[in-house]
Amino acid sequence: MRILLVEDDAMIGKTLAQALTQDGYAVDHVVDGVAARAALDVAPDVYALVLLDLGLPRKSGLELLRELRAAGNRVRVLIVTARDAVADRVAGLDAGADDYLTKPFSLDELAARMRALLRRDIAREGNVLRHRELTLDTATREVTQSGRPVDVSAREFALLAALLERPGAALSKAQLEERIYRWGDEVESNAVEVHIHNLRKKLGSETIRTLRGVGYALA
Ligand code: CA
Repeated sequence: MRILLVEDDAMIGKTLAQALTQDGYAVDHVVDGVAARAALDVAPDVYALVLLDLGLPRKSGLELLRELRAAGNRVRVLIVTARDAVADRVAGLDAGADDYLTKPFSLDELAARMRALLRRDIAREGNVLRHRELTLDTATREVTQSGRPVDVSAREFALLAALLERPGAALSKAQLEERIYRWGDEVESNAVEVHIHNLRKKLGSETIRTLRGVGYALA
C-alpha cells in the first residue's frame, strides 16, 4: 500500500520512511504542505493513508487538511505531531483527521494505528484480507492458500494486497504500479507482469486472471 508521509523534520522523516518501507509500505516523503497538496492533487486515489505533521513549512498540516476536506478528498489522515495541546488535537480531528498520534510514539503503536485505519476501508476479518481459499494478513504479512503458507516477496505481497482489496475488480498495470512503487523507484516496463507471473507460479495460474486491454483481477 502506498503512503504519503508529510514530515519536515529530517531525522523523524527518515526514520519513519525506513520503518514503514520495512513494513512493506511504498512511502512517498514530502517535507512541506504545498508539496503534499501537489502530490495529492496529482494522484488523488493512489494513497491509502497520509501521515501528517502539523507544524510544516509553506502550508501547515491543519491548513492542508482543511483544504483537502473542502475539496472532497476523503483520504485517510493520521496526524503525527509533537503538539500535544488538547486544542491542537481537537482542531485536527475537527478538520477531518481520522486519528491522532503525539510524538514521541513507538513505531509499534504507529503501525497498529495505521492498520486500524486502513481496515476501516474494507470489510475484513481483523487484519486479514480473504478471497476464496486465499488469505493475506496485513499485520503478520503472511499469505496462505487453503491454509498452507505461501512465501511472497514484498512487491508480490503489495500487489496481491491491492487485488484482494477489490476482489473481482480489475486493476490496470498502471494502477498496480502506482500501488507498489514509490516516486523515483526504477520500474522496469514489465515489472508488474513479472510479479504476476511469479504469483501465478506460487498460487496457481488460475488465481489471477488477465483481462485483455484492461488489467488483472482475482479469479
Ligand atoms: Ca514539523
